Amino acid sequence: MRVTEHLAHAAQPPISFEIIPPLRGGNVQGLLSLIDDLVRFQPPFIDITSHAAEVIYEESQDGTIHRRVKRKRPGTLGVCALLQNKYHVDAVPHILCQGFTREETEDFLIELRYLGIDNVLAVRGDDSGFAKPLQYGRSANRYASDLVAQITSMNKGRYLEAELLDAQPTSFCIGVGGYPEKHFEAPNLEIDVRRVKEKVDAGADYVVTQMFFDNRYYFRFVELCREHGIEVPIIPGLKILTAERQLSSIPRTFYVDIPEELADAALADPAHVVDIGVEWALKQSEELLAHGVPSLHFYVMQSAAAIKKLMAKLKP
Ligand SMILES: Cc1cc2nc3c(=O)[nH]c(=O)nc-3n(C[C@H](O)[C@H](O)[C@H](O)COP(=O)(O)OP(=O)(O)OC[C@H]3O[C@@H](n4cnc5c(N)ncnc54)[C@H](O)[C@@H]3O)c2cc1C
Repeated sequence: MRVTEHLAHAAQPPISFEIIPPLRGGNVQGLLSLIDDLVRFQPPFIDITSHAAEVIYEESQDGTIHRRVKRKRPGTLGVCALLQNKYHVDAVPHILCQGFTREETEDFLIELRYLGIDNVLAVRGDDSGFAKPLQYGRSANRYASDLVAQITSMNKGRYLEAELLDAQPTSFCIGVGGYPEKHFEAPNLEIDVRRVKEKVDAGADYVVTQMFFDNRYYFRFVELCREHGIEVPIIPGLKILTAERQLSSIPRTFYVDIPEELADAALADPAHVVDIGVEWALKQSEELLAHGVPSLHFYVMQSAAAIKKLMAKLKP
């Protein structure tokens, strides 16, 4: 079922989760027990992130520079297949521009359709150094709006090769990212919101926001989106603070603010950051639900410990 259908038909705002596939060589059992924990809360859908390979450049003794692939990040397709067909929860794989050619993206989408997956979240990704040389007529998507346009074309039965046999139209429901505190490369929020509109005009069916710890950012973002004619659902993305080190790593990685009150509480009692983070996320969730948000989406990533505590307290 499509994410937008889940939102439209739910009696109460549904709560969904986002997880990250294990690093290559990681233990699949850990992931399965994470999914076991999450499905108990009957999420309508679970997102699975996707990551381009990471590259480093090393200087050898003679001064020449060597490019090495440091880490590969497979797993998205396998985890989606399990979620969709073993757990019977709608899987939302993330699809990237960065590190993938349009031809690979098309193949990936064909695989997803074969697996009965109805949803994708289209994001650009960040530069991991893994730019592929585009040879033999291959092409790449630059911005998420280009990627959305490619998926929309497939939904209309238009594939990259005009003569492709059995080129059935797909029917993917397409999500995209939005940034209540603006994307770090955008000159200002207004211009960034115009970019979100371009993604919706290209065919995106809904928006999921980057995490935020102060609901005022979300409310202002939604208001601005509506003023710009964006009418699709805007799902708030939330993260529970679980460790003191995240007070610096989250703003550095995601370019979002952590409110003084939350940071002070975490610094004053580092042994209980999880409980402080859960209480904060609970207050955020309750206020968002009271404002009639379409649903809540939690960035769970690799551990269910904090979300289990929150779900025990949250009454939608
Ligand atoms: C809900 C969500 C899920 C995510 N999942 C993943 C994931 O699984 N894997 C991962 O690697 N990353 C993920 N990310 C992070 C994301 O890849 C980065 O934030 C990335 O830097 C931007 O992606 P985007 O899709 O928002 O890009 P875009 O919408 O392409 O925007 C990127 C920047 O370019 C600007 N821009 C857009 N179009 C144009 C244009 N035509 N001309 C000039 N400027 C333009 C925008 O204002 C913005 O500053 C996720 C982010 C969100 C919000």
